[in-house]
Amino acid sequence: MARVVSKNTKPERAVRTALRSLGFRFRGHTNALPGTPDLVLHRQKSVILVHGCFWHRHQGCARTRVPRTRVSFWTTKFRQNVERDRTVRRALKGLGWRTLIVWECVAEDPRRLRRQLLRFLDGAP
Ligand SMILES: [Zn+2]
Repeated sequence: MARVVSKNTKPERAVRTALRSLGFRFRGHTNALPGTPDLVLHRQKSVILVHGCFWHRHQGCARTRVPRTRVSFWTTKFRQNVERDRTVRRALKGLGWRTLIVWECVAEDPRRLRRQLLRFLDGAP
């Protein structure tokens, strides 16, 4: 199944910039972990997954609409994406990694993003 992934998307760049400015060290797109996570913080044994609201179905988000045509195609596609995300998170958790999903709409708001990152990473690099 094709994964809807592009590396170094705009929200992902925003998360990288925020992490850097907060002093956290990280690596990107580690093939060694399930799902090739976007951002890996080894010291915190934490993984950050940056998700587009539309493709990954951010619940309650205005960007999570279903196109009017080919509805069953989209519904299937979305379900596969969500299931895949769940499988990846479960696999990472099973290996002892903490995971955080940063939604695209949050990544676009620098203050919300910083707050979310600090909460997840427990404040200090
Ligand atoms: Zn959203």
